[in-house]
Amino acid sequence: MTLLSSLGRVSRSAPLASKLLLLGTLSGGSIVAYSDSNTAVNKKEEQKKKKVVVLGTGWAGISFLKDLDITSYDVQVVSPQNYFAFTPLLPSVTCGTVEARSIVESVRNITKKKNGEIELWEADCFKIDPVNQKVHCRPVFKDDPEASQDFSLGYDYLIVAVGAQVNTFGTPGVRENCHFLKEVEDAQRIRRGVIDCFEKALLPGLTEEQRRRKLHFVIVGGGPTGVEFAAELHDFIQEDVTKIYPSVKELVKITLIQSGDHILNSFDERISSFAEQKFLRDGIDVQTGMRVLSVSDKDITVKIKSSGEVVSLPHGLILWSTGVGTRPVISDFMEQVEQGGRRALATNEWLQVKGCENVYAVGDCASIAQRKITEDIANIFKAADVDNSGTLTMEELRDVVDDILVRYPQVELYLKSKHMRNVNDLLADSEGNERKEVDIEAFKLALSEVDTQMKTLPATAQVAAQQGAYLAKCFNRMEQCKEQPEGPKRFRTGGHHQFRPFQYKHFGQFAPLGGDQAAAELPGDWVSAGKSTQWLWYSVYASKQVSWRTRALVVSDWTRRYIFGRDSSRI
Ligand code: FAD
Ligand code: MG
Repeated sequence: MTLLSSLGRVSRSAPLASKLLLLGTLSGGSIVAYSDSNTAVNKKEEQKKKKVVVLGTGWAGISFLKDLDITSYDVQVVSPQNYFAFTPLLPSVTCGTVEARSIVESVRNITKKKNGEIELWEADCFKIDPVNQKVHCRPVFKDDPEASQDFSLGYDYLIVAVGAQVNTFGTPGVRENCHFLKEVEDAQRIRRGVIDCFEKALLPGLTEEQRRRKLHFVIVGGGPTGVEFAAELHDFIQEDVTKIYPSVKELVKITLIQSGDHILNSFDERISSFAEQKFLRDGIDVQTGMRVLSVSDKDITVKIKSSGEVVSLPHGLILWSTGVGTRPVISDFMEQVEQGGRRALATNEWLQVKGCENVYAVGDCASIAQRKITEDIANIFKAADVDNSGTLTMEELRDVVDDILVRYPQVELYLKSKHMRNVNDLLADSEGNERKEVDIEAFKLALSEVDTQMKTLPATAQVAAQQGAYLAKCFNRMEQCKEQPEGPKRFRTGGHHQFRPFQYKHFGQFAPLGGDQAAAELPGDWVSAGKSTQWLWYSVYASKQVSWRTRALVVSDWTRRYIFGRDSSRI
């Protein structure tokens, strides 16, 4: 060890007095004065640092933390999990294609790379108090009285990124008798549950009917998670069960229940019909137009929507995957900020919670309430009509058009949907001729339909990660943009917004369908399906891993599965 590195170590661990002594000895006193005043400056800076509390270490929380410049903030993180989970690969964990530890990365591993300190508390936030700017938290260690005392943290800025929870729609028996697939533990439980079903079905003394019941896997919900689990299960049965449990392989059945008319209905219809046809060939029984009434430990009772008939199906294992609901801490917070009864926290386009300027909400727990252009038309017109003539010339319009497009993204979507090139096309007269100027009535008429294109963003990792990264960028430029706002014109109050509003970029979505086939919907209305798409899926999901460690583990798991098959040990 060099002298310098030893000194570095001592000075990091020793108290202030010994640091001064050490430096004094080395320098004859001159550095002592410097060190003293420097510490005072540092302390002052520390005091000035704004406190940022982040709730949650999922997609939104982690992407915020990864991009935040923490030298300017005092950052504290509260999450019941001290790890980040790569949720898109959870279905692969349910049958052992990928191991659970391969898709998680410790938050401390991620944050230690930052140039500064982030404090992490393994706890649940159970109450947000926006009036006193505090969050109240409860550690996760319920069985240790010393480590389970509630605590509260004050904040200057709060980032709420707690995600969502499963939604049972109040269906009786679902909580008690169904599996969910939201957390890593859920995937591990399902893996054990699937193996249990096979082991139970092999036991002597069971009738064939009992064996069939144990091997009937039911999936409720034909969204991406339900479909991917069905595909994983089918692969497991085809590739491994036939070898490990050959005597019962003929008794296995997979049923996918969907309340709508098609599975994967958030995808392009070409993908949803490709998936339906593939599942038909694979022998996966897709039942559409069915609503689940109740679930017991042995049966699931459904109503066929078209005929009104009520049917009970015996089951061995059920996966309930029908969408997401609100966490209690968010419902409570929404009541406090007069947003009660909503599914998610409403934010403005800068991700600030409506009614709470210093609280931001990102990811699945939030939803952007996009401002309607029709509410601001008179103000836009007034701000654009600089000569107060009562009409807008095309030059006047040109000066505000970029601000309009940034502030109201629905305008661009509307232009695209009508195959128009620009706002001039929108303002054209009834014969399609460009106008020289427009009055307020023509302006209102032209923009009257634009708000129909407003869309709520889906609850996906893609949205959550982009929101976290966007917010970190805003925080990194908070001071700079106070002086020089970079956002669009404020049409109602004058001046400019501090930041550009959040804008989501959709990079497409995948649906792995088993048998090394996947379907993908990519930007530009491009749809692809088949084996080559599965390879695209492998490369995208490997590249999106949060660290090189998880990337290496996931790729080696895929390779292991090809060579040795999946492990069916029930551990
Ligand atoms: P989460 O990632 O759920 O993170 C929430 C965090 O908050 C967690 O760390 C949690 O522990 C913590 N937390 C919870 N309660 C509290 C509390 N009270 N106090 C403090 N912290 C709390 N999206 C895609 O884009 N592509 C996919 O392929 C895809 N596949 C998916 C597959 C599955 C099986 C699942 C379940 C989801 C999938 N998603 C996918 C959706 C995606 O996972 C979510 O949209 C994303 O996780 C949302 O991110 P988030 O940060 O809002 O919430
Ligand atoms: Mg004018």
